[in-house]
Amino acid sequence: MRNITVIGSGTMGNGIAHVFAQYGYKVALCDINEAALQKAIATITANFDRQIKKGTLDESAKVNALNNITTLIDLQQAVKDADLVIEAATENSEIKLNLFKQLSEYCGDDTILATNTSSISITKIASVTKKPENVIGMHFMNPVPVMKLVEVIRGYATTDEVTAKIMELSEKIEKVPVEVNDYPGFVANRILMPMINEAIYSLYEGVAGVYEIDTVMKLGMAHPMGPLQLADFIGLDVCLAILNVLHDGFGNPKYAPCPLLVNMVTAGHKGVKSGEGFYKYQADSKELIVADKFSNK
Ligand code: NAD
Repeated sequence: MRNITVIGSGTMGNGIAHVFAQYGYKVALCDINEAALQKAIATITANFDRQIKKGTLDESAKVNALNNITTLIDLQQAVKDADLVIEAATENSEIKLNLFKQLSEYCGDDTILATNTSSISITKIASVTKKPENVIGMHFMNPVPVMKLVEVIRGYATTDEVTAKIMELSEKIEKVPVEVNDYPGFVANRILMPMINEAIYSLYEGVAGVYEIDTVMKLGMAHPMGPLQLADFIGLDVCLAILNVLHDGFGNPKYAPCPLLVNMVTAGHKGVKSGEGFYKYQADSKELIVADKFSNK
């Protein structure tokens, strides 16, 4: 595999493009508008600069990696030489199903179609393609250049051969792939999201405040960040969408999203990306400040 197309150049897409380009793959990065692509290249460049500062990359490696990335808006053009397509577009079933229908038309029979979805069924995505056996989940973690895990999710029809190729490729970019089956939330979010939801319930029921809940989990369980801060980082809208997938998929009330989470998302408080969630975020400050709404609890 040499040519990788990444669809969606947001938080995850630019990280995935960054890593493959760094390891010498030719990357076609595709999004729906030029501004998103320009922003992605600026982010990738800044992240390479950070690696140079840390001494884990040199200037010539950065130049080579950036030269490996081409940006495109036209989907058909972006996938024409692809050995592998990794879709990292917005977490929305309609968008993804539409994209995979088109990918199935535009790509060669041997092209592997992967999705970075956090929660949408791989089997469902595969069902709109002509070759569901070539469709697989490749769930990278945020931030992609830093996090080692790739959760490799086999859809109902995914072949052993396709799974083996994706496991091998993940190792080539120095990630640690773990194979799981396609059930709601896979493994990562099936375990993580109920914990985050429970932390939000603890706040909602007045058991403790934001700072206290996160401190218990950080210092008591050695988590690098508390569950409420992590929820802000992931995006509260994304957390809500995943909990809804778990709730619908298993039909078990234990996955029902906390009403406080629903309210926050409805009010537009989505965490880091909107500037406020459980904490408030200012561009020029790294200090973690509890949002006013929760500061007296
Ligand atoms: P994002 O909102 O940062 O980026 C999504 C990008 O997709 C945007 O730039 C948007 O313009 C683009 N897009 C939308 N429709 C498109 C289309 N038809 N063709 C091409 N591009 C299109 O989202 P994100 O956080 O990067 O999430 C992307 C995927 O990764 C989602 O499936 C999400 O569930 C998954 N994911 C996210 C995280 C996370 O922590 N953010 C972690 C793991 C997986």
